[in-house]
Amino acid sequence: MQRTDPPPPPLADRRPLLSADSLRKSFGPLPVLRGVDLTIERGQVLAIIGPSGSGKTTLLRCLNGLETAESGRIEASDGQTVDFSARPGRAALNRLRDRSAMVFQHYNLFPHKTVLENIIEGPVVVQRRPRAAAVAEARELLDRVGLGAKEANYPSSLSGGQQQRVGILRALALRPELLLFDEPTSALDPELVGEILSLMRDLAREGWTMVVVTHELQFAREVAHHVAFIDDGEIVEHGPPDQLLRRPEHERTRQFVHRLLHPL
Ligand code: ADP
Ligand code: MG
Repeated sequence: MQRTDPPPPPLADRRPLLSADSLRKSFGPLPVLRGVDLTIERGQVLAIIGPSGSGKTTLLRCLNGLETAESGRIEASDGQTVDFSARPGRAALNRLRDRSAMVFQHYNLFPHKTVLENIIEGPVVVQRRPRAAAVAEARELLDRVGLGAKEANYPSSLSGGQQQRVGILRALALRPELLLFDEPTSALDPELVGEILSLMRDLAREGWTMVVVTHELQFAREVAHHVAFIDDGEIVEHGPPDQLLRRPEHERTRQFVHRLLHPL
């Protein structure tokens, strides 16, 4: 009899895209990550919430290899494992860095480069892709977000929302496996927040894997598949958005969510 079951997916497709195990990091005497475990599933959005100073930015930077954790491991779906206790070499850290691209709170665009130059910098200079192809792709991206007419502008002539859209395109142009967003709307005037969240919603729908540090609970509730609450360098709890945001198990989570919803 002929076998009709589809074959199981290859191992790489069943593994989380990236998982972190017991990440620890201190700055001098200050412990900032105290053993963080995190699983990032392919095609899913993980929202990270938590108070200021709790280690959210440091965690993203460790996932991206911008910061080197002191101990713990990061494992990727293709089997690459970075063991920070074993002093990973530059090649391993670079490979980790290449997996993801970061979108920053303050956009971090190059002020002396045009919008187009900002977007093609990574593909051309870092990834050594042909310039013409990178330019064509950047123009497609710009058209897609309604900024086609702004390619020759300098960042300072754009609104915050436009600059952040360029920040997101710059990350997309790297074609990373994973997008990391560090409070991407926190620096924006309130009326500009919506356009960025809506672009991020589109990216989630397209199947991008995203880790989003955010205070936008509504966004987390609607778009995230999973939410993690971090406090004082530890993941206090994590779960589906409805559970974590409406029925948290831990008092610290409950208080934090309550304060965000009722700031006064
Ligand atoms: P969050 O993003 O949650 O606000 P951070 O990860 O930025 O938190 O920072 C966590 C703690 O680590 C804070 O106390 C911060 O002052 C400290 N910290 C962050 N980066 C550095 C650094 N490069 N040098 C020294 N201390 C740092
Ligand atoms: Mg931060």
